[in-house]
Amino acid sequence: MFEGKTGVRVSEMLSCQQVRDEFTDYFDELIGPEERAYITNHLSQCAECAAEYGAFARTLEVIRAVPAEEPALDLWPEFARQMDEITSQERASVLLRVRRRWDEALARVSEGAILYTAGLADRTAQRLAKYLIHDPFRAKE
Ligand SMILES: [Zn+2]
Repeated sequence: MFEGKTGVRVSEMLSCQQVRDEFTDYFDELIGPEERAYITNHLSQCAECAAEYGAFARTLEVIRAVPAEEPALDLWPEFARQMDEITSQERASVLLRVRRRWDEALARVSEGAILYTAGLADRTAQRLAKYLIHDPFRAKE
């Protein structure tokens, strides 16, 4: 007799779904020998569940092979130091780039200011010239 997670007592054959529901515990060997034997037996006879379990086990192995924690302590300080360096370099280069853009922008603004002033001066001169033509104090020819 076997009592699965669902509490359903299964005497002989487990359904595919029941087997698949036990995959995690089966993989982690958290089930009793009797239940384990049932599942092993099912997997040896059911190609679909065997394939499903194969994929399941490979996926779990890959997931568990990936370190979930920080790198080993003896590697971490070195890594952190390098990260700090890279980060500060990046920050400096960003500052430099911003600075260069700012200089360019300033240059363009002053260029524009000069042109504007020149234009203004020119117009002012023209306007003044109009008055100057009728300048009553201007000596007549
Ligand atoms: Zn099956």
